[in-house]
Amino acid sequence: MRLKSLSAITLLFLHPLNVHAQSKLSPKWEELTAADFRLAIQHSQRTCLLPFGILEKHGPHLPLGTDLLNVRYASLRAVEQEFAVVFPEYYFGQIFEAKHEPGTVAYSMDIQLKLLQETADEMARNGCKKIIIVNGHGGNSYLLPYFAQAQLDRPHDYVLYVLDGERSRPGGPAKKSSGIDYHAGENETSNTIVSHPDLVHLDRAKSESGADLNRLSLPDQSYTGIWWYSRFPNHYSGDGSVATKELGEWNVKNWVDAIVETIRAVKADTQSLKLQNEFYEKSRHPLDTQP
Ligand SMILES: [Zn+2]
Repeated sequence: MRLKSLSAITLLFLHPLNVHAQSKLSPKWEELTAADFRLAIQHSQRTCLLPFGILEKHGPHLPLGTDLLNVRYASLRAVEQEFAVVFPEYYFGQIFEAKHEPGTVAYSMDIQLKLLQETADEMARNGCKKIIIVNGHGGNSYLLPYFAQAQLDRPHDYVLYVLDGERSRPGGPAKKSSGIDYHAGENETSNTIVSHPDLVHLDRAKSESGADLNRLSLPDQSYTGIWWYSRFPNHYSGDGSVATKELGEWNVKNWVDAIVETIRAVKADTQSLKLQNEFYEKSRHPLDTQP
């Protein structure tokens, strides 16, 4: 149950330190009234999440929005533990490698960057001075560090953080499949059993192959865009048929924990903005910079 705006304001006014009253605010940007949005931004210490998904095929058995559904599920569970305002559905990322499959929505390079910049700028204009992009999609793993790095190009009054990386920590239930499990395989299918069990069609998971075809022979240090298709032309990597709820619960808990840790660290971070401002100032007159 969520407080209506008037009662939330009244409670906060009477009990400014009443965390319980504040915690009744929805973390979802789109569910808040304008007045409650102001309270939520204060309560979040101006920290906001941008869960980043995609629309792409996920083997023969998972929904197109798997990454979006799962990243939002984990993010919304995390903010139950450590409050932050969560931006609405965002799925405008890098997915050229799945354009040959039905249902993929692949925006052009310039739109991806412009839309992400304007989204971050608009979030900040509305008070989100610490923005954590929670990445739910492997195809974004080069885009997002590049985007974060590019924030140094011109001054911003906010700091942008990216949370990416491996979600399956060591330990937990033993995996049943061996070999590569990159996409719609045992891990991701297990996670989706936890987040959206009604959308998982486990009985179809063996109807296509998720084997690594390894059709290029290039040295490890080289990179070519067709690498993914050369290995996984069905846009499926691993074996989703052996997925279990237990493995999903382990993975999702680790993911939620990582998001909670990051929100807390970001809230405590007083250095990044100071250093950014120092850097922006110096970058205006590099010849005067002293060692
Ligand atoms: Zn995925």
